[in-house]
Amino acid sequence: MTDLDAIRDVYARIECDLLVVGDSIITDRHHASSGNYEETDPQNQIGGIIPAYPLSGWLRHGMESVVQKRGGTACHPGEANANFRKTDVYDRDLDAGYHEKGACVDTPAHDDDGCVIFDLFGGFDGVPGTLLRRPIRFSPVRSNVQYERGHAEGHYRRLNRNVVSRNPEDNREPLRNTEVDAVANLDGCWQLSFRDPKPAFLGLVAEAITFLDDHNTDFMHQLGGSRNFGGGIVDCELINPLYEERELKRTFNRANGPTADMEEKDDQWTESYRPEIENALADRLHSDHA
Ligand SMILES: [Zn+2]
Repeated sequence: MTDLDAIRDVYARIECDLLVVGDSIITDRHHASSGNYEETDPQNQIGGIIPAYPLSGWLRHGMESVVQKRGGTACHPGEANANFRKTDVYDRDLDAGYHEKGACVDTPAHDDDGCVIFDLFGGFDGVPGTLLRRPIRFSPVRSNVQYERGHAEGHYRRLNRNVVSRNPEDNREPLRNTEVDAVANLDGCWQLSFRDPKPAFLGLVAEAITFLDDHNTDFMHQLGGSRNFGGGIVDCELINPLYEERELKRTFNRANGPTADMEEKDDQWTESYRPEIENALADRLHSDHA
């Protein structure tokens, strides 16, 4: 049996028809075009990087929801002593399933551990979290995509939005034009690494990904911007951590289904590993709130 403590890297499959992350998509369009870049040309083969920040916030919110659903409270993502513009909103969060960031660390009831969210994300008193969230590199050319390295197929687009006059005599004269960066038809892997792997951490990642998939059209659990316009609806699943690299790659090969070995690993994961990590998470939440 694979040792759960030895699983350092897990991959979430992320599929999203339209992802808008403001101006923070980093593209290689200047390299890819060798000076002939036409932003409206559908043939341009621009790849880029989706930074980890929006992905991390999205996953963290899913994890917070799982902790709260199980009766616990989660570290608030903002420092308690920060100068919030909306103090009343922060205070309201503290009444609704959150504790002040790092408040759990001061509790002498259990050793120097914070709550499970603190362990994963850290960020207080210079403590790093154990969960390393990487950016996703994307490319429109599927044969270039290295899924096993946390890459994705994705198509960079620049979208234009016009706000036009409502007066009939103006004939829809544009009042304002905005451009947003978007990735269309994203399908790939998001690599998550544990610096200090534990079954409870794996349990929380697995449950959060299931939760986010079940709630993917909830405004609060969409990813990035343009949520009212269908942006950021993510189908996600944890790729079976028991898979070897070639099996992970095969998941993305539309011509081939799973092998008998992969199906056996899926059964093992569902029947014995998943219950084990869920129990580890339950124990951890129990001790966090004892
Ligand atoms: Zn905490």
